[in-house]
Amino acid sequence: MRQSKFFMPTLKEAPADAVAESHKIMIRGGYIRQVTAGVYAYLPLGYRVLRKAEAIIEEEMENINVPEMIMPHLLPATLWQESGRYKKYGAEMFKLQDRHGRESLLGPTHEETFTEIVAKNLKSYKQMPLALYQIQTKFRDENRPRFGLLRGREFVMLDGYSFAATREQLDEQFDDQKSAYKKIFKRAGVTVHPVIADSGTMGGKNSTEFQAPAAIGEDTIATNEKGTYAANLEMAKSVDTFKQEPEEVKELTKVATPDCDTIEKLAEFLNVPATRIVKSILYIADDQKVLVLIRGDKQINEVKLGHILDADDVHVAESSELKEITGSEKGGVGPINADWADKIIADETVKDLYNVVVGANETDYQYQNANLDRDFKVDEFADLRTANEGEPDPVDHLPLKFTTSIEVGHIFKLGTYYTDTMGADFLDQNGKAKPVIMGSYGIGVTRMLSAAVEQHLTENGVAWPKEIAPFTVHLIQMKMKDETQTELAEKLEKELSAKYDVLYDDRNERPGVKFNDADLVGAPIRITIGRKAKDGIVEVKRPTDEKATEVSVDELDNFVN
Ligand code: ATP
Ligand code: MG
Ligand code: MG
Ligand code: MG
Repeated sequence: MRQSKFFMPTLKEAPADAVAESHKIMIRGGYIRQVTAGVYAYLPLGYRVLRKAEAIIEEEMENINVPEMIMPHLLPATLWQESGRYKKYGAEMFKLQDRHGRESLLGPTHEETFTEIVAKNLKSYKQMPLALYQIQTKFRDENRPRFGLLRGREFVMLDGYSFAATREQLDEQFDDQKSAYKKIFKRAGVTVHPVIADSGTMGGKNSTEFQAPAAIGEDTIATNEKGTYAANLEMAKSVDTFKQEPEEVKELTKVATPDCDTIEKLAEFLNVPATRIVKSILYIADDQKVLVLIRGDKQINEVKLGHILDADDVHVAESSELKEITGSEKGGVGPINADWADKIIADETVKDLYNVVVGANETDYQYQNANLDRDFKVDEFADLRTANEGEPDPVDHLPLKFTTSIEVGHIFKLGTYYTDTMGADFLDQNGKAKPVIMGSYGIGVTRMLSAAVEQHLTENGVAWPKEIAPFTVHLIQMKMKDETQTELAEKLEKELSAKYDVLYDDRNERPGVKFNDADLVGAPIRITIGRKAKDGIVEVKRPTDEKATEVSVDELDNFVN
């Protein structure tokens, strides 16, 4: 592509309202232009990046045998009334009326449409498992559209939906999608953490977000150093409880009775509100004790082991695990009730457990002493396993680190919510009617491009990851009037174009202008054809290189690869 024919209106300064670096670069580089709040035109440069990202998605979906299709943008309200989401979805929905006064909407997501068009057509278990996807423009009337493509009101999303006859099938589909998503982000050069997340208005389980750490990110994720735990801070709501004034931990003075088998009964027994019991730990050593922690405990390692239980109140089991932890021959425990006595720990670990400070911010009390197990949902451990590669150890009380990040993808197991409410049954092996089991999978494609820029900023522009770069090679001719340079440039343009996407800056511009623009194009390889063209020597520079390297044209191949 000749740059003289390319439409790339670059700007020296970003508009004042552009805060995010990716937004600034995309405007300055002529990738996008805003048409109205949160609605953008994708100019040739931006569109090339978008198409490349889409191509990666298409390949990875093909690899897991998920076909592409496309749904309409304009949807009837009736469809969403059927699922009950027409009201529930809220102000983000773009609603409109047609000339006959029929209520319609512009699709913000497509669970209903896929349930209607696909799930309702699956009549037999033999047709499943099945999954489909689309890459489509979505409409959400965001309260605060901002940061360029990061939060638009019109944006491109990859949304996929899976249909299964059994839970096992759904689990497999979910895993397939998840690994395909990881490959997509990797190829797009976007570093992500799969984290435990909320499922929002879509409902569902195993909600996993793909979060791309970035300074501008609107979300905050908590991760531990081992990478065995990662969650959206939204899931750690209970840290708020630490805004409460600290209070001394109550030492138990009464004997727990077997009746204390629920949190409520325990609370009554201890004479504290049930909501304040954060965690109960059954600790059984030789002298058999129970520890109950009450919310508000500041000096957490001053917690004393509580009252001695009457041996009769404890069902002593032969738990080798406990023996290992306590080193007690007599050790063994059957929790009085698994609901509250769900953790077994040894004396020494009590201190460690509560010394885990998750707050990156030492002065912010609400984060101090917050603890994975206590302040983050413990019952999310199943999700935690799907959200992370290895087998995380629930007793792996490592310090957590908070990072701002961008939600670039979100996947979850919908189950039968939509097929139940909208009536999409199939016949199982025994001829019994059952609702189709669904999953939902989404990537914010345009948002992902901004995330890529945020993660690959250079001093004056961007270093695009190779697979989504608008051009792979940027050929820059210093002097257009120099015939030797033109000859070499045209030769290289021809040769390299056979293998790569080449942008050839053939404009009659000053080198300074050309280089500034090149920083914004951010091609992985920049080849400058200048004075040494006559000797067959060019300069090669990657956006992250400090200086260009002189390379003989014959050796160019080694560099471009
Ligand atoms: P957010 O929390 O940022 O509002 P969401 O949870 O509402 O996002 P989902 O409903 O999970 O979004 O949609 C799937 C994906 O679509 C998101 O993970 C995100 O990458 C992308 N996305 C959502 N809203 C926008 C938007 N306004 N602009 C660009 N991309 C978006
Ligand atoms: Mg949203
Ligand atoms: Mg979200
Ligand atoms: Mg989401």
